[in-house]
Amino acid sequence: MRLFFTNTSCTALLFGALSLLTTFSHADLPQDSRRAGGIAVIEVSSDTTTASFGDRPVVLVVEDHKKYAIVGLPITIQTGVHLLNTDKAHFDFSVAEYAYPEQRLTITDQSKVAPDPEQLARYQREATEQAIVYKKFSAIQTTHFTKFIWPALGKISSTFGFKRFFNGEPRAPHAGLDIAAGFGTVVLAPANGVVVQTGDYFFNGQTVMIDHGQGIVTMLCHLSRIDVKTGQTVKQGGVIGLVGKTGRATGPHLHFSVSLNNARVDPLLVLPKNQNDGQVTTKDIQ
Ligand SMILES: [Zn+2]
Repeated sequence: MRLFFTNTSCTALLFGALSLLTTFSHADLPQDSRRAGGIAVIEVSSDTTTASFGDRPVVLVVEDHKKYAIVGLPITIQTGVHLLNTDKAHFDFSVAEYAYPEQRLTITDQSKVAPDPEQLARYQREATEQAIVYKKFSAIQTTHFTKFIWPALGKISSTFGFKRFFNGEPRAPHAGLDIAAGFGTVVLAPANGVVVQTGDYFFNGQTVMIDHGQGIVTMLCHLSRIDVKTGQTVKQGGVIGLVGKTGRATGPHLHFSVSLNNARVDPLLVLPKNQNDGQVTTKDIQ
């Protein structure tokens, strides 16, 4: 794969990040789904070198000699008209209403609903750590990000965006996809990247975050074992760890989240429809 750096000398953080936008050749595009937690795939002129949405730089890809901005739409985004800025033009696009399913649960043990102050403080520290990773826009050029593979194979036990209410109290919508793979199933890197965070978190359990470059970050949670270290380069299909049920999980599963320009988006929009597409065999990755 060839890549084209437009400028590698800038040092100012945001300006530098914007300038380091690269283009991919022959990338497959993710599904265009303009809703909260969705992705807007917007064609831009071929001479575009930078794009941004809000205060975040946005990845640009080339497909069949056309250039596209791939904009992650936060789950909190308002419906209506939004603006993509590029160095050549501005683009209006509409975010549509979308009703995610709701789940209402009654839990009699209140301590399971609301973490105690110590747990809450821990959670807030961890969320801050993760927020820093999600805001990365590194020049790492590692992959055609839309050619993700499934990090584990299994039944989908919870989809993205699910709204949960415990005893009538709303909880943050589900920010990833739950794959009910069996305990000890190997978890694979969905694309090439660099491990930027590993840890044992209050809600997410043993977790690995991978920076795929250009603001594309994935997170793999509830692992029973982590086989990689921070700073390690991983290849698509390489083993990250094993499925478990660490953190707040009722049973073994992999929670998988995908972030673009610091917006968590529905992983199904970037994963192949067929779970086996692009999978490498164990033999290939050893
Ligand atoms: Zn989950």
